[in-house]
Amino acid sequence: MNTWSKQGLWWIVLAAGLFGGCGSGEPRADSAGQRRLRVTCTIGMIADVIREIGGEHVQVTALMGPGVDPHLYKASAGDVARLVGADLVLYGGLHLEGKLTEVLEALARRKPTIAVTRDIDRARLLQPPQFGGLYDPHVWFDVQLWARAAETIRDALREADPRHADDYDRAAAAYLARLTELDAWCRSRAAELVPHQRVLVTSHDAYNYFGRAYGFEVIGIQGISTEEQATSRAIVELSRLIAARRIKAIFTESSVSPKAIRAVIEDCRRAGWNVVEGGELFSDALGGPGTPEGTYIGMVRHNMNTIADALKWMKSAAGSGSAEIRGRPDAQGFSPIEW
Ligand SMILES: [Zn+2]
Repeated sequence: MNTWSKQGLWWIVLAAGLFGGCGSGEPRADSAGQRRLRVTCTIGMIADVIREIGGEHVQVTALMGPGVDPHLYKASAGDVARLVGADLVLYGGLHLEGKLTEVLEALARRKPTIAVTRDIDRARLLQPPQFGGLYDPHVWFDVQLWARAAETIRDALREADPRHADDYDRAAAAYLARLTELDAWCRSRAAELVPHQRVLVTSHDAYNYFGRAYGFEVIGIQGISTEEQATSRAIVELSRLIAARRIKAIFTESSVSPKAIRAVIEDCRRAGWNVVEGGELFSDALGGPGTPEGTYIGMVRHNMNTIADALKWMKSAAGSGSAEIRGRPDAQGFSPIEW
C-alpha cells in the first residue's frame, strides 16, 4: 500500500468517526415527503444517468465536475465525507478512478459501493496493449455498453430503495429507449463519412470503444491515462503520419491539456500540411451544468457532430501536396501506412 492510499483510508476512518454515517447535510424530501436516497458518484456521466433514472427520489452528488480528469483525481476531506455520508456510492471502475480506487474498495466493506461497469460482459471490453493487461475504462463512448451500465445503475437504485422500484423501472425503460435512438443516430452520422475520413486523432486514448462501435480508426498521443506526458518523439511521429495521410482535423479534449495537440499542429504546419484543430471533445468529464454537453446524451451528440463536421470534407490523399505520401489510396480509401 502506498503512502497516498494509507492517507486516503485514514481519511475514511476519520470521516466515519466525525460524521457517524449521517452524511453531509440532511437529504431533502421528494414530493411525497419521503427522504431522498443520497447517492454519491465519481464522474458526471454517472451522475447524469442516476438523475435520469432516480428522478425526484434521489439526491445526487458527483465528486468530479466539468473539466476534471478522473485518472489523476485525489479525494479531498470533503469528498470523503460525501462518500461516507451516502446511502449508495457508484463509480466507473476498471481503474478509471486511478488514485481513488483503494478508497472505494475500502468503502465497499461499509456500504453499497458499486462499479457501474460491473455487469458489462468482459468479452465486450477492450484490452489495448498499452494498458498493460488492464481493461480500457472509457466504456461510455460505446452507447450500447453505457446502456448496460445504466441497467446496473437502475438495479443499484432498486436495491437501495425498493419502495420506488417501479418508478426506477419506468424511468430506466424510457431512458434506455433514448440511448437506443442515440446509438442509431451516431451510426447514421458516422455513415456520412467515407472510410478514409474516419480517423480520430486526440490527446489521450479515450476513444477506443467509440472507434470500434462507429467504425473509426483512433490515434491518441498519450497513453490510456493522462499521467503519461506525450514525448517529443511521439509528437514528431504523429505529425508525419497526419501529413502523409492528409488528415484534415485533430481534436483537443476538455479534461486534458491541449498542449500536445497544438504541438502536433505546429509540427504539421512546419512540414507543409495545414491540419486544423477540429474542436474540443468531452472525454472523461461532461460540459458545464445547463449546457447541452452537461448531459451524457448531449455530450455524445456534441462529440459526434464535432468529429463528423470537421472530417467530412477531408479529401482523399490522391492529389498534390508538399508532404510525402507513403500510403496508396485505393477504392476503399487509404491502405494502412507503416512507419
Ligand atoms: Zn481517460
